[in-house]
Amino acid sequence: MRFTTLASGSRGNCSIIDDGQSSFLIDGGISPRTLETHLKISGFTPQRLRGLILTHTHGDHWNQRLLAYCAEKKIPWYLHKTHARTIYDQYPEFKAFYESGLVHFYLPNTRFETAAGWYWHPVNISHDSSETFGFRLDIKNEQGPCVSIGYLADLGIWDKALADQFTDLDLLALEFNHDEKLQKNSKRPEFLIQRIMGDEGHLSNDQAVSFLDYLKSLGVHKLPKHLVQVHLSEQCNSPEHAQASLKLFLKDSAINMKLQTAQAKKTSSPINLLERNLFAFAEHLNENY
Ligand SMILES: [Zn+2]
Ligand SMILES: [Zn+2]
Repeated sequence: MRFTTLASGSRGNCSIIDDGQSSFLIDGGISPRTLETHLKISGFTPQRLRGLILTHTHGDHWNQRLLAYCAEKKIPWYLHKTHARTIYDQYPEFKAFYESGLVHFYLPNTRFETAAGWYWHPVNISHDSSETFGFRLDIKNEQGPCVSIGYLADLGIWDKALADQFTDLDLLALEFNHDEKLQKNSKRPEFLIQRIMGDEGHLSNDQAVSFLDYLKSLGVHKLPKHLVQVHLSEQCNSPEHAQASLKLFLKDSAINMKLQTAQAKKTSSPINLLERNLFAFAEHLNENY
C-alpha cells in the first residue's frame, strides 16, 4: 500500500493511494498531462485508477480537463451533492458525466466503500467552500493487512470532535498552510489575510502542531506513524518553516512519527504503508460504526 502526494498547494492538489491493484485519487486539481507525468515519476500507472474522491470545489482541487479525462477513461468521481451543483454551473459537460453513471454522492459522516475493503468516512470541516470534507480511509484486505489514512487539507480550524476521528492512523496528511508571522507581515491585502487566518480559511503551522499535541495528549500511540505536511502556502510558508514548527514536538523521544513535507513543485516520494494489526482495526470499527 502506497500513498503519494502528486501535487499540493494553491496551484493544485492531488494525492494517490494504491494497493498494487487499484488506486484512488483524493482531489484532482491538476491537468491530465500533469497527472500522467507525476504518476510515471512515482511509479504508478493510470490503468489502475478506480476513482477520485473530491474534498471540495475550490479550483485547486478539481480541474475541468481532468474531469473530461476521467469521463473518457470511465473513472468515477465521489463527491457531495453540493459539489455537483457547483461543478455543473462551471462546466455543463458534467451533466453527461453524471448521466453516464460515473458520479457517486457521499453523505457527511456516512461511510462508503469504493472498492472491496476500501471504507471512506467523510467528515465536514470548516472552510469557505460550499461543503468541505476531510476523510478517514480504512482499508482492509481479505488477507488481513489493514491500513488507515487521514486526509485533512483546507480547514480553518479544528476541534477535539474532529481530531478524535483521526487517531491510530498509519498516515495523516494534514494542512500546514502558513506561518502566522509571514502571513501577518505579507504584502497581501488585509481581507485576504483575514480570510486565510479565519475559522473558514486555512490551518497555520501552529494550529496543525496543536492538533498533533492534542492527539499526543490522548496517548503517543494515537499519533499517526507518518505525517505528511500538505497545502503549504508558497508565499507565507516554506518547507523549512513548516518543519521547524514541529521541532519542539518531535524532540519528545517517545514520538516515533516519520515526517514528509509535500512541496508544490515536486512529486513527493511514495510512502509505503505496511499492515497494522487486525485487533487495532477491529477496535476502531467497534468504536465508530
Ligand atoms: Zn479550499
Ligand atoms: Zn486548496
